[in-house]
Amino acid sequence: MERRSFFKIVGTASGGLLTGACGKQARQIIPLLVPEQEIVIGEEEWHPSVCRECSAGCGTIVRVMRAEREVKRGNDTVRERIAAVKKIEGNPLDPVSGGALCARGQAGVQALYHPDRLRGPMKRSGQKGDGAFEAISWDSAIDSAASALKSALDKDPSKIVYLARPQAGTRSATTAAFLKGVGAPAPISAALNDFEIERKAAEAVFGWNGLPVYDLQDSDYVLGVGADFLGGWVSPVFYARRFGQLRQGRVGRRGRLIQAESRLSLTATSADRWLPVRPGGELAFALAVGHVLVEENLLPASVKPPSGIREGFAAVSLDTAARMSGLQVAQIRQVARELAQAEAPVVVSGASVVQTNSLDAVIAANALNLLLGSVGRKGGVIPPSAGLIDDAYEKSRPDRDDLFKRLDSAQVVLLDGVNPAYTLPGTAKLLAKVPTVLSFSPFLDDSAAYADLILPDHAGLESAAAVIPSVAPEAALTGAGPVVRPLYETRATEQVLADIGKKLGKEVTVETPQSAYQSIFAQLKPAGDWTDAGEFAQDCQRQGGWWTKIDRKAPAASKSVAKPAVPQLSDAVFQGGAGEFPYYFQPYPSVQFGDGSGAHLPWMQELPDPASSAMWGLPVEIDPQSAAKLGLANGQAVRVVSPQGSIEAAVYVHPGAIPGVLSMAIGQGHKHYGRFASGQGANPLEIAAPVFEAQSGAFAFGATRVRIEKLRAEGGLVQFSMADREPDLHRR
Ligand code: SF4
Repeated sequence: MERRSFFKIVGTASGGLLTGACGKQARQIIPLLVPEQEIVIGEEEWHPSVCRECSAGCGTIVRVMRAEREVKRGNDTVRERIAAVKKIEGNPLDPVSGGALCARGQAGVQALYHPDRLRGPMKRSGQKGDGAFEAISWDSAIDSAASALKSALDKDPSKIVYLARPQAGTRSATTAAFLKGVGAPAPISAALNDFEIERKAAEAVFGWNGLPVYDLQDSDYVLGVGADFLGGWVSPVFYARRFGQLRQGRVGRRGRLIQAESRLSLTATSADRWLPVRPGGELAFALAVGHVLVEENLLPASVKPPSGIREGFAAVSLDTAARMSGLQVAQIRQVARELAQAEAPVVVSGASVVQTNSLDAVIAANALNLLLGSVGRKGGVIPPSAGLIDDAYEKSRPDRDDLFKRLDSAQVVLLDGVNPAYTLPGTAKLLAKVPTVLSFSPFLDDSAAYADLILPDHAGLESAAAVIPSVAPEAALTGAGPVVRPLYETRATEQVLADIGKKLGKEVTVETPQSAYQSIFAQLKPAGDWTDAGEFAQDCQRQGGWWTKIDRKAPAASKSVAKPAVPQLSDAVFQGGAGEFPYYFQPYPSVQFGDGSGAHLPWMQELPDPASSAMWGLPVEIDPQSAAKLGLANGQAVRVVSPQGSIEAAVYVHPGAIPGVLSMAIGQGHKHYGRFASGQGANPLEIAAPVFEAQSGAFAFGATRVRIEKLRAEGGLVQFSMADREPDLHRR
């Protein structure tokens, strides 16, 4: 569809959309989503928006039905105008989603109509962590928040800790402006996996500032190393679309995918060949492949990698590296030869499960692209476009810092879009002793339970925002206006920050999509027939963002030239001795819930897990040999014990699991997160060792060893797939 035609479809409505939100009728999710018979037939409208369920930043379009319905008011029947969101789809103009959306994006409707959304500001009325709160007014909430911040600012501003998601856009820019304005330190990223490892590795090898973009659709041979790019890594919709092109987008040319990963992930399942590396063996594998490329002189003569790269790979001992990776030398030689024979090979590397040596692993895999001449060319790895549109937004992206040290001495902690009490073991204890915790969560979640005040944000569909997608093929700023009026007495966090700033005597400018578009117009002078910034902003608003190829050098050009070096061979470090704790334990972000933030949505709870087909619960995955040795059958209850503690879960005997490696998807086991997630299943992160990758500060949530103990015959595993439900299947 042409952009201009699309403008016509959405253009009539995107300015206004605020008529008659259904307000008090939203007592449950179901009535607004299913029974159309209650709604008098109305006119449908589609409005551009942006998905905020993860940091990929997919552009969406939202179907809104305006209509009337009859409702009972006491003894009276009254007709009421409503505007109900019925459906979310991908925005066909958006270069990230391209009109597609993942299941979490679709379930964004339920985040709006969720029955457990907070209705207004709340003050703690019980012990920290209990989750007991009482309603207060916004005036009183803003006064209390401002007074706590003032007292910390007067004593020691460094004791204010703002924990946020690692996404760049209008929210991060407003937050940065607020913190700078009041004199507090910059925000800290507190997400489970903010791809800091991938960013650092791209900077170290390519000199790029941001996440590399892998041009899968123009490649003919993709080697994935540790990155589950069809599962939940970086931008699943974007990479799934590109993967589709690799496979079926070119007549007579089907690209191949070889995946080296320590788990049979969604990407590994879709690969032509899966190479089951040991947990933490990705570094050894990448080094071994590079060694074979150099040793067998397989490299194209035209490619001149930076000095030291060939030598670095040549110095690796192939036998040792192969042993450490858990693969055979022959398997490694085969991959290296296939890479060398491919016309457009590319190595996609990441840390879907972070280990203590993950940064080195991604650096080594990136360096393979240098050897192959796959950098900056079609079908290879291309520079990030993040930062092309507005460097100020990119710079406002929360960074890693010494989170635990800062929390340990904090006076005031602000929680914005993160749930560290769930994702980072040990955080809950620290939050419990912070004098004032403020949360902007729209739900009472595990971390908000430790808050003194909750100042609930609007749902995504009720608020305006523009975000820079985590990866995009071109410069992109994807924006959304409010699609419906707020259902409750919530308030946009940007506005709350401005309100608090005002109380502290500081004017905070709230960044909006309109201000972002106007700034693009002023800075970049985009080519087009717009007469002024206002008209340009209106067009961007109508199409849902601004995406363009900018004739400007990538941010790499402004960075100091990288001097990449091949890392040394090293093993990952694991907590727990192999005698007492014989199994590697790999928690991994789930397709349904990501880092756990999607667990409150019932559609996501209903979605069968891609590995086990489990619903309403996530099992621990064990290989058939180990299960037989322990006398475990599918569905039994087990206790998984690590040096940090233990959890109880059902066991899934996974025919594709690597012997000696237990994996468990992250998402369940919330203490507080609404009726659909609270008390449901177990959180594998609870028993993960608090170990961090040294240079990036990323939480190495795969760095734990465990043992497994048999409990009951019935573990409450609910599986969708008939084969997996067969009770004797894994006993034979
Ligand atoms: S990949 Fe992320 S941003 Fe895109 S639709 Fe899915 S949850 Fe939303």
